[in-house]
Amino acid sequence: MGATFHTEKPGDVPVWVNKHNCKACDICVSVCPAGVLAMVYDPSSTLGANINIEYPDSCIGCMECELSCPDFAIYVADRKEYKFAKLSDEAKERQEKIRANNYMSLNQGAN
Ligand code: SF4
Ligand code: SF4
Repeated sequence: MGATFHTEKPGDVPVWVNKHNCKACDICVSVCPAGVLAMVYDPSSTLGANINIEYPDSCIGCMECELSCPDFAIYVADRKEYKFAKLSDEAKERQEKIRANNYMSLNQGAN
């Protein structure tokens, strides 16, 4: 009851999305410093794309995604409950590539 508007943490993850609320605007992808998030094409979605949590192990728990989302659709775990990563050069470089790729996943197109 009311579950559509409330998202429980789905296990031991640093960041998760309530896909009912997400409008695939890609703002969260643009603000993430660690290349954790990206958009993936989804022809079956009316939005044409979905947000995907691609590299959860790189999440530093900065909260930028949650604070920037206009639709309250993305959530970050509490620091007391999850041990976040430190920002690595690899993660920073990946974020630059995702940015240059219009926030789309770098893991697509090889099918
Ligand atoms: S900022 Fe919010 S609504 Fe936009 S893609 Fe990210 S989770 Fe979805
Ligand atoms: S908390 Fe920070 S590092 Fe983790 S996904 Fe959100 S913006 Fe990226």
